[in-house]
Amino acid sequence: MKADNITNIGSIPLKTQSTETSITFSEVAKMPTSHGDFHVRVVMDSVGTEHVIIYKGTIENAEFLDVRVHSECLTGEVFESMRCDCDQQLSWALDHIEAQGIGMVIYLRQEGRGIGLFNKIRAYALQDTGLDTVEANIKLGFPSDMRTYELAGEILNALGISSINLITNNPLKLDALKKHGIKIRSRIPILIEPNEHNKHYLNVKSNKMNHLF
Ligand SMILES: [Zn+2]
Repeated sequence: MKADNITNIGSIPLKTQSTETSITFSEVAKMPTSHGDFHVRVVMDSVGTEHVIIYKGTIENAEFLDVRVHSECLTGEVFESMRCDCDQQLSWALDHIEAQGIGMVIYLRQEGRGIGLFNKIRAYALQDTGLDTVEANIKLGFPSDMRTYELAGEILNALGISSINLITNNPLKLDALKKHGIKIRSRIPILIEPNEHNKHYLNVKSNKMNHLF
């Protein structure tokens, strides 16, 4: 573990105020994982939801930092559900950051594309009757994707990071972060092998949600 990360504790104001919202960073803790040794901080948003940054290297004020903005997926990440590719994407990003020696995952607690776990499982039940992921959300009265990335922009701003390489297959994230003044030098695509359960889901993401593969 590099000492420079440890001495950086407290170099960021623990509370960052902006005009509309405030986020609060926890202290830095070490987080050894099966993907490598990382650092972790919790970021509490203005309504008390606890998000996570997990990172490697000295990220504060870094230029062209490799960043993954990842939304929580309990079914994929805890139970290793094969209905989606979230767990593989997160693993890919952590392995990539470990290999680079520097980078960050911003882990946002917006389960089920922002509709929550309860409604996500309701959508899965509809998908079991033949609807695709977009049709199921619409049938439940939700847009196909309710996730927002403002908070990721705020976190990057608070850490003094204004330019990144974004690890994503989702072009919406590029636009959302650009709106928050984040300069994106390049997109780092995630290469996932589809399985028989998520093959259709990945096709819908590609065809209806403009994800790039
Ligand atoms: Zn998932």
